[in-house]
Amino acid sequence: IEEVESEVTSEPASKKQKPNFYGSSEFSSLPLSPQTSLALTTLGFTTMTQIQQKSIPPLLTGKDLVGAAKTGSGKTLAFLIPTLELLNKVKWTNRNGTGAIIISPTRELSLQIYGVLRDIVEAGKHTQTHGLVIGGANRRTEAERLGKGVNILVATPGRLLDHLQNTKGFKYSNLQIFVIDEADRILEIGFEEDLHSIIKLLPKERQTMLFSATQTKQVEDLARLSIQNTAVYVEVENE
Ligand code: ADP
Ligand code: MG
Repeated sequence: IEEVESEVTSEPASKKQKPNFYGSSEFSSLPLSPQTSLALTTLGFTTMTQIQQKSIPPLLTGKDLVGAAKTGSGKTLAFLIPTLELLNKVKWTNRNGTGAIIISPTRELSLQIYGVLRDIVEAGKHTQTHGLVIGGANRRTEAERLGKGVNILVATPGRLLDHLQNTKGFKYSNLQIFVIDEADRILEIGFEEDLHSIIKLLPKERQTMLFSATQTKQVEDLARLSIQNTAVYVEVENE
């Protein structure tokens, strides 16, 4: 982690349509599966936002990434698209257990992410199963679903830790991707200790994506703790 490669960039809004390294700012320029391409077209997403342009290409190559961009800049697709692409590519099935875990600070945010995920999976006819585990919901119902295999899991930190520790049928030993969304708020709310416990329990060999609205010292510390490999740093100031 000492050798974190810094690719911090900040650009004026006028440069917003700058092409990514595939030569275009259109989703169609990315090497995406037919399923994801279909989903994006069906849902009306054609042009990438800046954070998507900067994050999706390195994430598709399997890099770890720390991304900062203000609320409303399109961070959800920036991590959902590479997540779906990886699991699709390796033909992930329920037998493999949970392949990706996405955490966010609140029930509302997790529900939002889950809604976007469900829409994409539906529109693209992806085979990946998905689930949601959040504080306040029925633990036992969640545990039963986890036992049947949930490929992509959206969660809040407290409830996720609970299931990691206590749900026997929850198979996460093959985890490929761990996404921490709104990392700054997760830390503000006081989930730091839960996060540390979660990171200790998760398999080390994985791709980690850490997104936040701001790059704070705390987020930097969390990146150091959660990311094993050399990470790409991406920052978008204004869009
Ligand atoms: P953030 O997580 O950065 O706050 P979201 O992922 O919630 O942002 O996206 C904010 C809004 O922008 C959502 O309504 C989403 O549907 C829309 N959006 C995201 N990406 C695109 C895109 N490439 N083209 C058009 N709209 C987009
Ligand atoms: Mg968001």
